[in-house]
Amino acid sequence: MRLRNNPNAPQFLDAHPEIVVQNPENYRGRWNELFGNDHPLHIEVGTGKGQFVTGMALANPEVNYIGIELFDSVMMKACEKALDAGSPSNLRLLRVNGADLEKYFAKNDVDRLYLNFSDPWPKSRHAKRRLTHEGFLKLYEAVLVDNGEIHFKTDNRGLFEYSLISMTDYGMKLKLVSLDLHADNPADNIMTEYEEKFSAKGQPIYRVEAQFIT
Ligand code: SAM
Repeated sequence: MRLRNNPNAPQFLDAHPEIVVQNPENYRGRWNELFGNDHPLHIEVGTGKGQFVTGMALANPEVNYIGIELFDSVMMKACEKALDAGSPSNLRLLRVNGADLEKYFAKNDVDRLYLNFSDPWPKSRHAKRRLTHEGFLKLYEAVLVDNGEIHFKTDNRGLFEYSLISMTDYGMKLKLVSLDLHADNPADNIMTEYEEKFSAKGQPIYRVEAQFIT
């Protein structure tokens, strides 16, 4: 997501510790203490402006959610959205790089991982940066519970095809594949900002639910 750098963003994020976790490495292996319950934890890597993760938190109060975003200016929008939604107690944001997940999460900390409209990195020399590259799948497996799942949505056919191959090469089980999510009309689908933009242009949305097999 490209947004002009907002010089006030770091200060804004620091001022909202009720949403933005300030020292996330302190909660590695004990996120239940931060949330004050033992509910399952679902994380989204590449949250963007936060519509999905906030909507999911409001719709599913029995699940804890963490949105992870690299850029402060984008994270600020997600934080504003969470504040507008009344700061749901089951929602937190981390301004960290998804490539560093293991610094913040231990094995079994995460029950499900969402990727939505991840950057496609179309050039093959950039394949390692795709969030469904083998290197990232290995990271996700290291923080998920056994048989944990990745739920991935995208408008990008090339990235989707690549991801299906990457996941199956890794030995994951594809539990659900949709080549036109909105035509399938799932009642519980929460749209992301990118999903609204691309589906309004008539583009099909692809979705896969894939499970690690132990
Ligand atoms: N998920 C949102 C949506 O569907 O509207 C945003 C999609 S946007 C194309 C991808 C987002 O992922 C950007 O905000 C980008 O900064 C973030 N991102 C990319 N790589 C990341 C990484 N390694 N760790 C955390 N966030 C990342």
